[in-house]
Amino acid sequence: MTWPDRTGGDATGGTGAAAAGRFAGWCGEMPRTGGSRRLAFGGGQARLRRAAWGLLESGMTSRADVEVEHLVIGAGVSGLAFAQFHGAADALVVEAEDEIGGYCRTVHRDGFTWDFSGHFFHFKNAALEAWLRERMPGDEVRTVVRRSRVWVGDRLIDFPFQKNIHQLPRADFLACLHDLHFRDEEGPAEEARNFEELLVRRFGRSIAEQFLIPYNEKLYACRLTGLDRDAMGRFFPWADEDEIIRNFRRPDNASYNATFTYPRGGAIRYVEALAHGLPEGTIRTGERVTRIDLDARIAHTSRRTIRYRHCISSAPLDRLLALCGQPAPDGVLTSNKVLVFNLGFDRKGWEGVHWVYFPQRDLPFYRVGFYDNIHDDERMSLYVELGYANAAQPDVPGTLARVLDGLRRVGIIDGHRLVAHHSVTLDPAYVHLSERSRAFAAQARSNLAQDGLHSIGRYGAWTYCSIEDNMLEARALAEQLRRATPHG
Ligand SMILES: Cc1cc2nc3c(=O)[nH]c(=O)nc-3n(C[C@H](O)[C@H](O)[C@H](O)COP(=O)(O)OP(=O)(O)OC[C@H]3O[C@@H](n4cnc5c(N)ncnc54)[C@H](O)[C@@H]3O)c2cc1C
Repeated sequence: MTWPDRTGGDATGGTGAAAAGRFAGWCGEMPRTGGSRRLAFGGGQARLRRAAWGLLESGMTSRADVEVEHLVIGAGVSGLAFAQFHGAADALVVEAEDEIGGYCRTVHRDGFTWDFSGHFFHFKNAALEAWLRERMPGDEVRTVVRRSRVWVGDRLIDFPFQKNIHQLPRADFLACLHDLHFRDEEGPAEEARNFEELLVRRFGRSIAEQFLIPYNEKLYACRLTGLDRDAMGRFFPWADEDEIIRNFRRPDNASYNATFTYPRGGAIRYVEALAHGLPEGTIRTGERVTRIDLDARIAHTSRRTIRYRHCISSAPLDRLLALCGQPAPDGVLTSNKVLVFNLGFDRKGWEGVHWVYFPQRDLPFYRVGFYDNIHDDERMSLYVELGYANAAQPDVPGTLARVLDGLRRVGIIDGHRLVAHHSVTLDPAYVHLSERSRAFAAQARSNLAQDGLHSIGRYGAWTYCSIEDNMLEARALAEQLRRATPHG
């Protein structure tokens, strides 16, 4: 398997090792004459020196402890993909947390394996997937046909809700079908001004009110009238009336994530594959960027100052702008946060389902996933997701009690004993996409790029996208910067 790589050679599973060998002279930071330090490279040393000269020529003479050609902020999927695809000899990745992975981290506890929330992989680019898989020999990676359901109060129906209204109680079904058929009375979909209006005009009022609006309000923790009509882009399972009716007899519930892959060791295994072969010392964990001087191209971190030619950041855009002393105006870059509970029980629970959506406003969670049904484990292992407004400060122990009560009410817990648990808050989790946020993010990113600061990733771009999208975006930027640097 070859991957079009940065060196112009192939990128077989052995390429990482070959790359590590090529840059074996890398020895991290070395004392620098005059008291400050610079990064010392093996093969990349000359390149670095040229970079430093370039900076001096361009008048960036402020002192820094370290000089690098490419400073990468964040060792999540985006930052690691950039370092990997660019060629790590001249990249330094600084990560605020003590471990790599960003939102794709994995926790192992009492025999349970949990991600920071269910993180499943839906590769459209087969070459990228094969390249990753070659770097994880010995890993068990399952390809799973998704089985997702919606809880409608007394039963589970197939997801997506809008294509399976025939599984609803008769009165609800008739209301949904009637309103779907007469949806034009709500006004033309092309003229919908926001996400809520679009849902009502595309699917009719009953489908919108029974599932699409309450579910998405729980997820985004805001009114859908404040979101762009294109808030979920290609991730929304659209269907027209014909498709919905055809689905009554010939089920076809496929969507962008009809199948997914998932490693036995959790999402982190893919991240480790991405980091595989990076020269030792490329990634510095436990080092947070605290301020960026755009003019001098110097990043201040919790440990030192780093001068860069290019900075590639996967930090959330609102926080990056604040680090640069250019905070976004209030109310433009808003998002929700998601509190995730990972729960391990003493025995098996529901079978035949991977995750369930809960639109009910009296249940605290919007989605519950079953890790044990992905790997055929014998003990129920759940992730439970709750959406909050960004400013909310949920009381975690109290919320866990409400979650357990909710799980009991819907019958997921039925005499089960909780034997292990873990919680994490993802902040931001889902950004609120509006015309204003899109325009602002595009302009801000373009301005930053002119100063050599490239804001990438799901949160750096302030968008809704997948892990695969993050890798492809990072690879495209790596190629662009390599082309733009003749000696690179
Ligand atoms: C609830 C939820 C479920 C999801 N499920 C899926 C799924 O099933 N499939 C899928 O494809 N995608 C999923 N996603 C999306 C996926 O998590 C993201 O697309 C991906 O993890 C983004 O990676 P990233 O590297 O761009 O950002 P992050 O993972 O956020 O990485 C950014 C890194 O930068 C570091 N950092 C930030 N600021 C600083 C600083 N100042 N100094 C140093 N380091 C810093 C952070 O610590 C972090 O490690 C989900 C997202 C959420 C919220």
